[in-house]
Amino acid sequence: MKNSNNTLDRKGNKALLYDFHTHVEKIDELESYFDLNIIPIINISNFHEWEIIRKCDNWEKYSKLINDIFFISAGVHPFDNAPWSEKTEIFYNNMSKYSSFVGEIGMDSCWSNVDKSIQKSNFERSLDFAYKNNFPVILHTKNMEGEIYDIIRKYSLQFIVHWYSCKNYIDEYISLGCYFTFGPALLEDKNIRTLAKRVPLDRILIETDGLNALQWLYNKAISENELRDYLEITIDEIAQIKEISPRKMVDIVNTNSEFLLRKGYKNG
Ligand SMILES: [Zn+2]
Repeated sequence: MKNSNNTLDRKGNKALLYDFHTHVEKIDELESYFDLNIIPIINISNFHEWEIIRKCDNWEKYSKLINDIFFISAGVHPFDNAPWSEKTEIFYNNMSKYSSFVGEIGMDSCWSNVDKSIQKSNFERSLDFAYKNNFPVILHTKNMEGEIYDIIRKYSLQFIVHWYSCKNYIDEYISLGCYFTFGPALLEDKNIRTLAKRVPLDRILIETDGLNALQWLYNKAISENELRDYLEITIDEIAQIKEISPRKMVDIVNTNSEFLLRKGYKNG
């Protein structure tokens, strides 16, 4: 993939970028984020995923860098078929020492085979947890956009909608004050382009959704060293849609990201 020069700073160094929604399956991926000057918001769905980071050799060092050069979001994914239990409470309570967000949570009737009532109950209880702890929420809405809108409009919470690809309810979600994370699917999907045209500049964030999602989208192997390229093509594309320069777009996305991350800090 062609590298964009649009995210170099004046000295020719890679400008800071944020990947506002990702997953890490190997510790090399987290380290690659540091090398590429990207601050990731890493989604953790269960203790197994958490162990990938926590059991690494450099945990002692990395644990001090949470909420500095990387952030954690913890939440029960709509693919998880375990009904809410004491174990779920333990997961949320333990993770809240490290996390700044609840997510990705939501419902999915496209790829998830999990019973709708389990999805809905896990989703609502996760929202209750977010409300009690004043955490912003990262939403997964696939094919359940209307149902999710009906639930979240009752909550006074900050929502970040991940990979929204539905042509309906866009104005409804915008009117709730939602932010939206855009990834390179923006180049392929006309519904996402419609969203990008309509969403205000101060609600735009960017994401990769992790290497697995990128590999699924492009149907090819992608290495952790290429993560930045996919954020850059997304920036370039949104900038074009919004008719502003890519550099300006980086500034806008970084300002939006930093605003939410300050909100994500505990006691802040
Ligand atoms: Zn995800």
